[in-house]
Amino acid sequence: MASQTGAIVQQSLNVLMGDQSFLPDLQEQAREKAFKSLAAILSTPNKVHKAFLRITVEDGSVVRIPAYRIQHNDSLGPYKGGIRFHESVNEDEVTNLAALMTLKNALHEVPFGGGKGGVVINPRQYSAKELYLICKKYVQYFSDVIGPDKDIPAPDMGTGEREMDWMMAEYKSIHPGQPYLGSFTGKSIVSGGSLGRREATGKGVYFTFRYMLHDFLKEQSDWLAGSNNPFVRTALAHTNRPLSIAVQGFGNVGSVAALEAYKCTHLHNKVVAVSDRNVTLYNPEGLSIPVLIEYAVHHQGDLPSSPESLKELGISADILEREAVLYLDVDVLMLAALEEQIRADNVSKVKASIIVEGANAPVTGEADDVLNAKGTIVIPDILANAGGVIVSYFEWLQGRETQFYTEEEVYKLLYAKMQKTLTGILPAYFGEPAPLRQSCYNHAVTKLSSSLYRQGKLY
Ligand code: GLU
Repeated sequence: MASQTGAIVQQSLNVLMGDQSFLPDLQEQAREKAFKSLAAILSTPNKVHKAFLRITVEDGSVVRIPAYRIQHNDSLGPYKGGIRFHESVNEDEVTNLAALMTLKNALHEVPFGGGKGGVVINPRQYSAKELYLICKKYVQYFSDVIGPDKDIPAPDMGTGEREMDWMMAEYKSIHPGQPYLGSFTGKSIVSGGSLGRREATGKGVYFTFRYMLHDFLKEQSDWLAGSNNPFVRTALAHTNRPLSIAVQGFGNVGSVAALEAYKCTHLHNKVVAVSDRNVTLYNPEGLSIPVLIEYAVHHQGDLPSSPESLKELGISADILEREAVLYLDVDVLMLAALEEQIRADNVSKVKASIIVEGANAPVTGEADDVLNAKGTIVIPDILANAGGVIVSYFEWLQGRETQFYTEEEVYKLLYAKMQKTLTGILPAYFGEPAPLRQSCYNHAVTKLSSSLYRQGKLY
């Protein structure tokens, strides 16, 4: 596990160990042993599956592509997590992302464990036919270890409904006569997917921000008003006035989060910047997100990047370099691209006072420490971006019952689940100042530890 996640998990275990009401029946020595087991279990995956997918590409040559499925922990339910198609995928990264899934599911009380998959390719360099073969091969190689009650993959960066449909079909043909709808989530609606799954992560990111910085503050204004907690001061300084929002990444998460912010007109916030792998577009008066989404849909997900294309769309914006989005003078920065975007070497240039992690692990541990010390509110990945896996859970349930919810029902259930987690976490964060990431890990690790103990795994 990457040292950052490991260090925070260890810190949570230290907190738990100091709490004498946890495992009170155990003598001191047995307790210490139990905590050593916990540290070992949480810092290493249960199983690492690796394969080289052999594919004949369109020009007739044969390529061997490294692929992973890493199963971190299943004490709370079947392993669950996406499959990433990206050229930077490697075993360490997939292991870390699998551990984050274990923590994310535990935090939000989703009855799943944590897993993650990865394939080392740039999907833009492969034809649809080649990607189809890669998806089929992935399932063939890992067909024994995945399944509706074992390990349920879903989309992640570089994959979506199309890939999940192909994979589910392959799973079905390898396991004839067995239930298959729950083998993959994030499928298209016609293949048994859930309404609202595609939008779920982005909607959940915006909901978390809005609930925390608006609804919760409003409800709790009496006791928060006199607080000296630096995070409360930051939060209160951002109420009752329109906020400027910048969004890094314009894929499935960033574009939906930006659209939610744009549509939430009663708060009068403005999305002033968006970025993708090529450019940042910036206009302090606000950008028309629906027009940009419409453009991206017809241009392989890319934003307009030339003055001519912006003019044609009737959009006025400065075209800045891709990284510029991180350093703009804005109130809120939503990170919905890759990991490690804000690091020790660039954190001092970040001006936003509220950072929302739509991507997994976009802020490094060192940068997080610097931001927390400044009173910047960092809403961590496992709290903010769980909408995807929460609606994956609803999709899995709907597939079991072959009863499907309406879109309104899905969002109602999604927001209720996220709100329940937030109301469990926020009073402590706005009470005793402590980094929000650490509070979230403490919750998740406590839940996992209790279940591991009760299942007799700590010896
Ligand atoms: N890939 C998403 C995540 O990182 C969704 C996982 C899922 O739906 O299983 O949370």
